[in-house]
Amino acid sequence: MDYLCSGLIGINPNTLPFIRLAREQGLCPEPNQIELMGGPLPKIAPPFKLPGHKHVDFDIPGPLKGLVAKLQPKPMFSPELCLGCGECQRACPADAINMVEGKPELILESCIRCFCCQELCHHKAVTVHQHWLGRKLLR
Ligand code: SF4
Ligand code: SF4
Repeated sequence: MDYLCSGLIGINPNTLPFIRLAREQGLCPEPNQIELMGGPLPKIAPPFKLPGHKHVDFDIPGPLKGLVAKLQPKPMFSPELCLGCGECQRACPADAINMVEGKPELILESCIRCFCCQELCHHKAVTVHQHWLGRKLLR
């Protein structure tokens, strides 16, 4: 599905790291083996505005991974706005949030930057923060 949908919005699916990795591991069929059900794909006219930052975790030597992780966008939790409901921790798919004294704390090395925590916090206590150097280098 991701392979086909990325093509629909004008992205070459082979440039997406998760699709490349899936294909390398035999988890994604060859394009001509994808069975399309329910009729042909609709025609959608790009251009779509794509996100500015790149996800560059893949193929980075171990010692540099920590540095790159610090430069990537990450969720920040506002102690003032957070009510400590724990919803973000329960929903985090990567177990990257610890509740410490009733407030969420990020485990940076586990965070996969899906930003589910930001989307689901009803109290707007989660914002996305990126180091200025990361904004410059990873755009
Ligand atoms: S979902 Fe929002 S309010 Fe609840 S613990 Fe997380 S940051 Fe705090
Ligand atoms: S961005 Fe995703 S992985 Fe990171 S803490 Fe939030 S929900 Fe967890």
